[in-house]
Amino acid sequence: MSNLFSYWEQKSFLTGFDVIIVGSGIVGLSAALYLKLKQPSLKIGILESGFLPSGASTKNAGFACFGSISELVNELESKPETEVLEMIDMRWRGLEKLRKNLGDPAICFEQNGGYEVFKDSEADLANYCIDRISWFNTFLKPVIRKHDIYAVSSDKIAEFGMHGICNIIKNKYEGQIDTGKMMIALLSRVQGMGVAVFNNCRVQKIEKDPGNKNVFTNQGIFNAKTVILATNAFIKDLIPELDVIPGRGQILITEPIKQLKIKGTFHYNKGYTYFRNIDDRILLGGGRDLDFKGEETTEAGVTPIIQEELEKLLYKTIVPGQKPKIEYRWSGVMGFGKDLKPIVKEISPGLLCAVRCNGMGVAMGSLLGQQVADLVNI
Ligand SMILES: Cc1cc2nc3c(=O)[nH]c(=O)nc-3n(C[C@H](O)[C@H](O)[C@H](O)COP(=O)(O)OP(=O)(O)OC[C@H]3O[C@@H](n4cnc5c(N)ncnc54)[C@H](O)[C@@H]3O)c2cc1C
Repeated sequence: MSNLFSYWEQKSFLTGFDVIIVGSGIVGLSAALYLKLKQPSLKIGILESGFLPSGASTKNAGFACFGSISELVNELESKPETEVLEMIDMRWRGLEKLRKNLGDPAICFEQNGGYEVFKDSEADLANYCIDRISWFNTFLKPVIRKHDIYAVSSDKIAEFGMHGICNIIKNKYEGQIDTGKMMIALLSRVQGMGVAVFNNCRVQKIEKDPGNKNVFTNQGIFNAKTVILATNAFIKDLIPELDVIPGRGQILITEPIKQLKIKGTFHYNKGYTYFRNIDDRILLGGGRDLDFKGEETTEAGVTPIIQEELEKLLYKTIVPGQKPKIEYRWSGVMGFGKDLKPIVKEISPGLLCAVRCNGMGVAMGSLLGQQVADLVNI
């Protein structure tokens, strides 16, 4: 470490780590949790470049979802059934772990159902998906272990007060969480187990040599037996050869709306756009398909092209006739790749990674944390 650190700081805070985890998102924190459950005596440190976690885990929409029919139809066009089913299984098992690790009250988990809404112009797609409901209910049964997951729910169009929607398919097992509360609960849990979290600590380089690893940061040099990279969309800064492409997601939240009619999680435009209720407000996000190239970035920011389209959808379709003010706007960054599967592997002896949730890390993150923790052998 830098010479400016005291003897006490160096001895007690900064050296002698068994494991250093880079990134304090849901995957990094979950990895720490599972390592501590497996080996409570491990000395673990998490290095986070942001003042708060600065990727996706505190920025997301909080959908506890595992797939809408049009998304799955789309995936099945280019991928084998086994691969798609494995992805759904990872999402479902990840959600089960998240709920078990933290408890539903702590993360404000509510199973209000998920709704795939089809625009008037998507009547053909809606009919195609509706025709396949029974097939998908059978397809998902081995992993979700429930009957009748999807059902037509078009009676809800009037109840939700939406305009320009021709059909709705409900997934009754989809839920929603409070993302902030989930991350606080996860952070508190790992800190309570003795894991040290260092913020404003950007990792610049890691020695890949076998044996103890030096981890170079803007605060000084840390040292650990094993290093886990959980930096998701930012992984290429450290390991350029990994197939992870950043994809920014933008979100807005309205002011509280009196007698808000929508309740649940909603997927629109084949899942590229999504909305939900939160604290009597509407959270609305997505729209990457409007500017794929522009959103292929790790930079934070919101853009008029996407925000204006989201607002149009809000005022014309979701709450027609009302004009609630937008009180929050932000962005987060996800990690995508050609393959549906996340990358959880040993890069070199003692250097591991768990990245690329393909925009579904609320669902998969806990499982990825466990998988990478299982690869650690100290
Ligand atoms: C707008 C948006 C909406 C989403 N909605 C949902 C949803 O509803 N449901 C769902 O399942 N998923 C959703 N996701 C995806 C989900 O949030 C992510 O898949 C998940 O949070 C990824 O977790 P992670 O820990 O892998 O990465 P991150 O949360 O991105 O964590 C990586 C961390 O590494 C840190 N870091 C990066 N580089 C360095 C470095 N060099 N040194 C130190 N630290 C570094 C970053 O600051 C960051 O905090 C959404 C994502 C976004 C952006």
